[in-house]
Amino acid sequence: MSVWAILAAAGSGERLGADRPKAFVRLGDRPLLAESLERLDASDWVDAIVVAAPPGWEEPVILLAEEVGCSKVSSCVTGGATRVESVRLALAEVPADAAVVLVHDAARPLVDDGVVERVLNALNEGWDGAVPGLPVADTVKRVDGEQVVETLDRDSLRVVQTPQAFVADVFRRALLRGSEPLTRWTDCAAAVEASGGRVKVVAGDPQLVKVTETGDLERVAALL
Ligand code: C5P
Repeated sequence: MSVWAILAAAGSGERLGADRPKAFVRLGDRPLLAESLERLDASDWVDAIVVAAPPGWEEPVILLAEEVGCSKVSSCVTGGATRVESVRLALAEVPADAAVVLVHDAARPLVDDGVVERVLNALNEGWDGAVPGLPVADTVKRVDGEQVVETLDRDSLRVVQTPQAFVADVFRRALLRGSEPLTRWTDCAAAVEASGGRVKVVAGDPQLVKVTETGDLERVAALL
Protein backbone atom coordinates (compact mmCIF):
# COMPACT_ATOMS: atom_id res chain seq x y z
CA MET A 1 0.00 0.00 0.00
CA SER A 2 1.66 3.24 -1.07
CA VAL A 3 0.94 6.22 1.15
CA TRP A 4 1.43 9.71 -0.25
CA ALA A 5 1.42 12.57 2.21
CA ILE A 6 0.26 16.05 1.25
CA LEU A 7 1.66 18.70 3.54
CA ALA A 8 -0.51 21.83 3.42
CA ALA A 9 1.87 24.66 4.16
CA ALA A 10 0.64 27.45 1.89
CA GLY A 11 -1.23 29.54 4.45
CA SER A 12 -0.29 33.16 4.99
CA GLY A 13 -0.61 32.96 8.77
CA GLU A 14 -1.95 36.50 9.02
CA ARG A 15 -3.16 35.94 12.57
CA LEU A 16 0.44 35.38 13.67
CA GLY A 17 1.33 38.90 12.56
CA ALA A 18 4.74 37.72 11.30
CA ASP A 19 6.72 39.11 8.36
CA ARG A 20 6.63 35.73 6.60
CA PRO A 21 4.17 32.89 5.91
CA LYS A 22 3.24 30.70 8.84
CA ALA A 23 5.28 27.72 7.59
CA PHE A 24 8.42 29.83 7.98
CA VAL A 25 7.88 31.40 11.39
CA ARG A 26 10.38 30.16 13.95
CA LEU A 27 9.65 27.20 16.16
CA GLY A 28 12.74 27.05 18.34
CA ASP A 29 15.58 27.73 15.92
CA ARG A 30 13.93 26.29 12.80
CA PRO A 31 11.04 27.19 10.49
CA LEU A 32 7.74 25.66 11.68
CA LEU A 33 7.55 23.51 8.53
CA ALA A 34 10.82 21.71 9.39
CA GLU A 35 9.17 19.82 12.24
CA SER A 36 6.31 18.20 10.29
CA LEU A 37 8.53 17.62 7.23
CA GLU A 38 11.09 15.77 9.30
CA ARG A 39 8.48 13.76 11.20
CA LEU A 40 6.56 12.66 8.09
CA ASP A 41 9.84 11.84 6.34
CA ALA A 42 10.91 9.66 9.27
CA SER A 43 7.59 7.79 9.36
CA ASP A 44 7.75 4.22 8.10
CA TRP A 45 4.12 4.61 7.01
CA VAL A 46 4.80 7.43 4.55
CA ASP A 47 6.30 6.69 1.13
CA ALA A 48 6.39 10.15 -0.45
CA ILE A 49 5.49 13.76 0.34
CA VAL A 50 4.08 16.60 -1.77
CA VAL A 51 4.29 20.04 -0.18
CA ALA A 52 1.94 22.94 -0.98
CA ALA A 53 4.09 26.04 -0.52
CA PRO A 54 3.12 29.67 -0.09
CA PRO A 55 3.40 31.50 -3.44
CA GLY A 56 7.02 32.60 -3.91
CA TRP A 57 8.30 30.23 -1.21
CA GLU A 58 8.64 27.07 -3.33
CA GLU A 59 12.42 27.26 -3.45
CA PRO A 60 12.88 27.85 0.29
CA VAL A 61 10.65 24.79 0.88
CA ILE A 62 12.89 22.61 -1.31
CA LEU A 63 16.02 24.00 0.35
CA LEU A 64 14.56 23.38 3.80
CA ALA A 65 13.68 19.79 2.85
CA GLU A 66 17.29 19.27 1.75
CA GLU A 67 18.62 20.94 4.88
CA VAL A 68 16.69 18.67 7.22
CA GLY A 69 17.55 15.62 5.10
CA CYS A 70 14.04 14.79 3.82
CA SER A 71 14.45 12.21 1.09
CA LYS A 72 10.73 11.59 0.53
CA VAL A 73 9.74 15.02 -0.79
CA SER A 74 8.69 14.27 -4.34
CA SER A 75 7.53 17.73 -5.35
CA CYS A 76 6.52 21.13 -4.13
CA VAL A 77 3.58 22.97 -5.68
CA THR A 78 2.45 26.55 -5.33
CA GLY A 79 -0.54 26.60 -2.98
CA GLY A 80 -3.91 28.10 -3.80
CA ALA A 81 -6.12 30.77 -2.25
CA THR A 82 -7.75 28.35 0.20
CA ARG A 83 -6.57 25.25 2.02
CA VAL A 84 -8.72 22.94 -0.11
CA GLU A 85 -7.34 24.53 -3.28
CA SER A 86 -3.80 23.99 -2.02
CA VAL A 87 -4.55 20.33 -1.33
CA ARG A 88 -6.17 19.97 -4.74
CA LEU A 89 -3.10 21.37 -6.47
CA ALA A 90 -0.84 19.03 -4.48
CA LEU A 91 -3.11 16.07 -5.25
CA ALA A 92 -2.41 16.58 -8.96
CA GLU A 93 1.20 15.54 -8.20
CA VAL A 94 0.18 12.30 -6.49
CA PRO A 95 0.56 9.40 -8.97
CA ALA A 96 -2.51 7.47 -10.11
CA ASP A 97 -1.28 4.26 -8.48
CA ALA A 98 -1.03 5.73 -4.96
CA ALA A 99 -3.29 3.76 -2.61
CA VAL A 100 -3.70 6.27 0.19
CA VAL A 101 -3.45 10.03 0.58
CA LEU A 102 -2.56 11.38 4.00
CA VAL A 103 -3.25 15.10 4.35
CA HIS A 104 -1.50 17.02 7.09
CA ASP A 105 -1.34 20.70 8.10
CA ALA A 106 2.12 22.15 8.56
CA ALA A 107 0.40 24.25 11.23
CA ARG A 108 0.32 21.10 13.43
CA PRO A 109 4.03 20.39 13.79
CA LEU A 110 3.93 17.63 16.41
CA VAL A 111 2.61 14.80 14.23
CA ASP A 112 3.74 11.34 15.32
CA ASP A 113 3.47 7.77 14.10
CA GLY A 114 0.80 6.81 16.61
CA VAL A 115 -1.86 8.99 15.03
CA VAL A 116 -0.70 8.15 11.49
CA GLU A 117 -1.09 4.47 12.33
CA ARG A 118 -4.59 5.02 13.74
CA VAL A 119 -5.93 6.79 10.66
CA LEU A 120 -4.32 4.27 8.28
CA ASN A 121 -5.69 1.31 10.25
CA ALA A 122 -9.20 2.67 9.74
CA LEU A 123 -8.70 2.44 5.96
CA ASN A 124 -7.64 -1.18 6.36
CA GLU A 125 -10.94 -1.76 8.15
CA GLY A 126 -12.74 -0.60 5.00
CA TRP A 127 -13.47 3.07 5.75
CA ASP A 128 -13.08 5.63 2.95
CA GLY A 129 -11.38 8.10 5.24
CA ALA A 130 -10.30 8.65 8.82
CA VAL A 131 -9.75 11.72 10.99
CA PRO A 132 -8.27 12.13 14.47
CA GLY A 133 -10.77 13.71 16.88
CA LEU A 134 -10.81 14.87 20.47
CA PRO A 135 -13.82 15.21 22.78
CA VAL A 136 -15.15 18.72 23.35
CA ALA A 137 -14.50 20.05 26.85
CA ASP A 138 -16.60 23.21 26.59
CA THR A 139 -20.32 23.56 26.05
CA VAL A 140 -20.96 24.49 22.42
CA LYS A 141 -23.87 26.68 21.31
CA ARG A 142 -25.16 27.60 17.89
CA VAL A 143 -25.71 31.33 17.59
CA ASP A 144 -27.39 33.73 15.22
CA GLY A 145 -25.62 37.06 15.67
CA GLU A 146 -25.82 37.74 19.40
CA GLN A 147 -28.58 35.29 20.13
CA VAL A 148 -28.07 31.72 21.26
CA VAL A 149 -30.19 29.48 19.08
CA GLU A 150 -29.30 26.03 20.34
CA THR A 151 -27.12 24.14 22.81
CA LEU A 152 -25.47 21.20 21.11
CA ASP A 153 -25.02 17.75 22.59
CA ARG A 154 -21.34 17.81 23.50
CA ASP A 155 -21.07 14.02 23.64
CA SER A 156 -21.72 13.75 19.93
CA LEU A 157 -19.15 16.40 18.97
CA ARG A 158 -15.44 16.04 18.21
CA VAL A 159 -12.73 18.57 17.50
CA VAL A 160 -11.00 17.23 14.43
CA GLN A 161 -7.29 17.41 13.61
CA THR A 162 -4.86 16.30 10.90
CA PRO A 163 -3.32 14.00 9.66
CA GLN A 164 -6.40 12.75 7.80
CA ALA A 165 -6.19 9.62 5.64
CA PHE A 166 -8.23 8.76 2.56
CA VAL A 167 -8.47 6.00 0.01
CA ALA A 168 -6.77 7.77 -2.90
CA ASP A 169 -9.46 7.10 -5.53
CA VAL A 170 -12.27 8.21 -3.24
CA PHE A 171 -10.34 11.32 -2.28
CA ARG A 172 -9.59 12.24 -5.88
CA ARG A 173 -13.22 11.90 -6.88
CA ALA A 174 -14.37 13.95 -3.89
CA LEU A 175 -11.87 16.75 -4.32
CA LEU A 176 -11.78 17.01 -8.07
CA ARG A 177 -15.53 17.32 -8.51
CA GLY A 178 -15.54 20.46 -10.61
CA SER A 179 -18.33 22.68 -9.42
CA GLU A 180 -18.24 22.28 -5.62
CA PRO A 181 -17.80 25.53 -3.70
CA LEU A 182 -14.38 24.57 -2.40
CA THR A 183 -14.07 27.30 0.17
CA ARG A 184 -16.96 25.83 2.16
CA TRP A 185 -14.74 23.05 3.47
CA THR A 186 -12.33 23.66 6.32
CA ASP A 187 -10.96 20.14 6.21
CA CYS A 188 -10.56 17.46 3.56
CA ALA A 189 -12.86 14.95 5.20
CA ALA A 190 -15.76 17.35 4.57
CA ALA A 191 -15.28 16.86 0.82
CA VAL A 192 -15.34 13.08 1.21
CA GLU A 193 -18.43 13.25 3.47
CA ALA A 194 -20.18 15.53 0.95
CA SER A 195 -19.65 12.97 -1.79
CA GLY A 196 -21.09 10.14 0.29
CA GLY A 197 -17.83 8.68 1.67
CA ARG A 198 -17.71 6.98 5.08
CA VAL A 199 -15.25 8.68 7.41
CA LYS A 200 -14.18 7.20 10.75
CA VAL A 201 -13.12 9.31 13.70
CA VAL A 202 -10.18 7.79 15.61
CA ALA A 203 -8.51 9.00 18.81
CA GLY A 204 -6.80 12.34 18.29
CA ASP A 205 -3.64 13.56 19.96
CA PRO A 206 -3.64 16.53 22.37
CA GLN A 207 -0.06 17.27 21.25
CA LEU A 208 -1.31 18.07 17.74
CA VAL A 209 -1.78 21.69 18.72
CA LYS A 210 -2.56 23.93 15.75
CA VAL A 211 -0.42 27.03 15.50
CA THR A 212 -2.76 29.94 14.79
CA GLU A 213 -1.70 32.73 17.13
CA THR A 214 1.63 33.71 18.68
CA GLY A 215 0.87 32.03 22.00
CA ASP A 216 0.40 28.70 20.19
CA LEU A 217 4.06 28.76 19.10
CA GLU A 218 5.14 28.93 22.72
CA ARG A 219 2.80 26.09 23.66
CA VAL A 220 4.17 23.89 20.88
CA ALA A 221 7.79 24.83 21.68
CA ALA A 222 7.18 23.71 25.27
CA LEU A 223 6.07 20.29 23.99
CA LEU A 224 9.10 19.78 21.70
O1 C5P B 1 -5.27 28.92 7.91
P1 C5P B 1 -5.24 27.67 8.72
O2 C5P B 1 -4.33 27.78 9.93
O3 C5P B 1 -6.56 27.07 9.06
O4 C5P B 1 -4.52 26.63 7.76
C1 C5P B 1 -4.44 25.25 8.04
C2 C5P B 1 -3.33 24.67 7.17
O5 C5P B 1 -3.67 24.83 5.80
C3 C5P B 1 -1.98 25.34 7.39
O6 C5P B 1 -0.97 24.36 7.50
C4 C5P B 1 -1.82 26.21 6.16
O7 C5P B 1 -0.49 26.38 5.74
C5 C5P B 1 -2.61 25.44 5.11
N1 C5P B 1 -3.15 26.33 4.06
C6 C5P B 1 -2.78 26.10 2.73
N2 C5P B 1 -3.24 26.95 1.75
C7 C5P B 1 -4.05 27.98 2.04
C8 C5P B 1 -4.46 28.21 3.39
C9 C5P B 1 -3.99 27.36 4.38
O8 C5P B 1 -2.02 25.17 2.45
N3 C5P B 1 -4.45 28.79 1.07
